[in-house]
Amino acid sequence: MAMSIAENRAVRLAHAEAHAALHGLALTPLRRQVYAAIVASERPIGAYELLEALAPQRGRMPPTTVYRALDFLLAHGFVHRIESKNAFVACCEIGVPHRSQFLMCDGCGATVEIPGDDLADQLSHSAPAHGFEVHRQVIELSGLCALCAHAARSAGGPA
Ligand SMILES: [Zn+2]
Ligand SMILES: [Zn+2]
Repeated sequence: MAMSIAENRAVRLAHAEAHAALHGLALTPLRRQVYAAIVASERPIGAYELLEALAPQRGRMPPTTVYRALDFLLAHGFVHRIESKNAFVACCEIGVPHRSQFLMCDGCGATVEIPGDDLADQLSHSAPAHGFEVHRQVIELSGLCALCAHAARSAGGPA
């Protein structure tokens, strides 16, 4: 049976907490709230949106406070940064070392993480052949999600 979105969020939070406890990572109340806000967001969420989302719980915070929490969440694999949007998504498999590709919908902003090292390896291994030294590797594909593609087809086709 499919999980509701709320159940799914609760499961992800519980999983993140268990991972933190297992590895002695200090998931402080603030870090937990930042993570929960990222999980709750339907699309990649930026630092300033996070400040707004957390204002009811935390009041006004300096952006550096949120950036420090994000640095922790990034460093320990709880979230990924979507470089092209300077925004963050919750990782789909915390605790499993991986690199990821992202499918991003131009219509609704929905973002899907596709974990997998094969493509990333292929690219980073071919770079030295070109005398190129890779410092940062980001694979993001933009287009339309199934819902938006369907809506676009329906709008364009006969009613
Ligand atoms: Zn991930
Ligand atoms: Zn979409």
